[in-house]
Formats: sequence, C-alpha cells, structure tokens
Amino acid sequence: MLEIVFLGTGGAVPSPRRHLAAIWMRYSSEEGESFLMDCGEGTQLQLMKAGLSFMQLDRIFITHWHADHWAGLIGLIQTMNLEGRKTPLRVYGPEAERFVDLILELGYWAPRFRVIPVDVPFEGDQETVVYQHPQFRIVSRPAKHSVPAVMYAFQEQDKVNVDIQKAAALGLTQGRVVGALKAEGKVVVRGRTVTLEEVGVRKPGLKAVYTGDTQACPQLVALARGADLLIHDSTYEAQEEDVMHAGAKEAAAAAKEAGVGTLVLTHFSRRYQDVSPLEQEARQVFPRVLSAKDFLKLTLKKGSLDVGDARPPRDKAA
Ligand SMILES: [Zn+2]
Repeated sequence: MLEIVFLGTGGAVPSPRRHLAAIWMRYSSEEGESFLMDCGEGTQLQLMKAGLSFMQLDRIFITHWHADHWAGLIGLIQTMNLEGRKTPLRVYGPEAERFVDLILELGYWAPRFRVIPVDVPFEGDQETVVYQHPQFRIVSRPAKHSVPAVMYAFQEQDKVNVDIQKAAALGLTQGRVVGALKAEGKVVVRGRTVTLEEVGVRKPGLKAVYTGDTQACPQLVALARGADLLIHDSTYEAQEEDVMHAGAKEAAAAAKEAGVGTLVLTHFSRRYQDVSPLEQEARQVFPRVLSAKDFLKLTLKKGSLDVGDARPPRDKAA
C-alpha cells in the first residue's frame, strides 16, 4: 500500500490555498518507509498540519532546483537539527552535490547530522535506479524542462506466486530452486528450462510516477507505462509557447498513451482559483482524472484508490 499526501500543489508562486510543490509518500509494510518528492517553501509546516512526522524522513527526491521545488529544505533541515536528529538525510536530485553543498554553506547553522547529496542523471533518456529498498525502488528519468530536471517513479516489487504442486511435478523442490525461479523468471532443472509462467503467476507491483516540471515528452510516457498513478505537471490548460510546462491536455494525452490507472493534475498556476476547467479539459482525453489540492490524501492499492484528506478534523477549518 502506498499512501500519498499532497503538501503543496501550486506552481511557481504560492497562494493562501496552495503551497508549493511537495508530496509525502509512505510505503506501508513491515519495512515501510516514508519519503518526500520535492520540498517547496513551507513544507515543514504542511507536514505538521497534516500530522506527519518529518523526523522519519530519510530521503527527499528533488526533481529540479527551481526554488518552488526545494526552498523548504532549509527550514526542514534546520528543524530536524534543532530536534536532535542524528540519522543521515539523503537528498536526491540532478546536480544534488552542487546545490546541497551550497545550501549547507548558507548562514550559521551547520547540522549535527549528515546531509548526503545523491546526484541523479539528467541527460539522455535512460532510466536509473536511484534507491533500492527491499520491497520497492525509486527510479528516475530526465524530464524536459528549462533547467536540468528529472521525473521519479515508485515501483513496488512484483509479487510472484508459485504453485508448489505444479512445481514439484516438474522436479522443482521448495527453497533455493523456487527462489531462483522467482528471481530470474526461469530455472534449469534436470537439463530442462522451466519458466515461471508454467508453474506460477507474476503480479505487477504498484507503480506511481511524479513528473515534477516538464513538457510533454516521450521519456515521460516511457516512465509512466502501466503506472497505477501518474502525478503530472498541469500548470496551464494547454502547453503554451515557450513555457516549459505541460498543460492539462498534454498530461491527459500522456496518461492515455502510457495506459495509466489514474491521472492526478498538480502544480497549478496561481491564475486558476478554480482548476475544474483544467480537469474538464483533461477528461475529454482521459477519463480517470483527479485535481490535487493541498492535503489531498490518496491510498493506493492494487486495483483500488481511496481519496481522502490528511488533516485531522479539527484543522480542516483552518
Ligand atoms: Zn515548479
């Protein structure tokens, strides 16, 4: 299960109703882990309002170094320090070493824990595994924006079920051989190759993609292929001349081409008090569309998506 809370859904300039880009995610399991995608200004306050722990965050994935996507790092790191954090924090992004070092040199505030930058490739169109957890991985691909920028995908490991009776009938005993079959998709037994399809099924794991800021581009469709959820830059109604952002229509076209489950529009220009025209425009191309708003909470399981609000009830009126 992947829980997703939108902490900021405005693009470039915040408004009282929309903070700047930041998305909290938690993969729930025995070895669960929470992390952030982008960290716009005010992210730490948004985390507090949503009742989410910022001390448990060990990884922050920055899509690019425009301030609306990273300026919250300064306050968040300082608060972690004041709260006595000891465990390292890893900050991923294109040119992360350069920018994280610059941030840490600002002011008089040397953190007493390690902030470790991890560079993410931003040229070409290759997919890169930037973090491997025992049960999921975060992969990146370069985006198409005015500065070095990347997109990220959360990919849960596929679930593999082997029918032990069928396997035994073909000479596969439980244990090491079955383990190899699950990992490799095939195994040689008594001189014969047995494929996973003969004795079991592979169920694809959850996949959720976050584009950050990008124009429509083929590498986005490649990254989003078959995703359960695509969270897409939707700054304007349609991609405008010389603007390095997708519009709602392009987001919907990408969602359709990639065959995703649900499209979530976010990073709205402040010119839109009401984003329903963008949603309607996208829906003409792709039917399963949601518009993000601050504190929108999504719970993603295979074949289901619950939509809620992350704030405790007493805070909703604020
Ligand atoms: Zn932006």
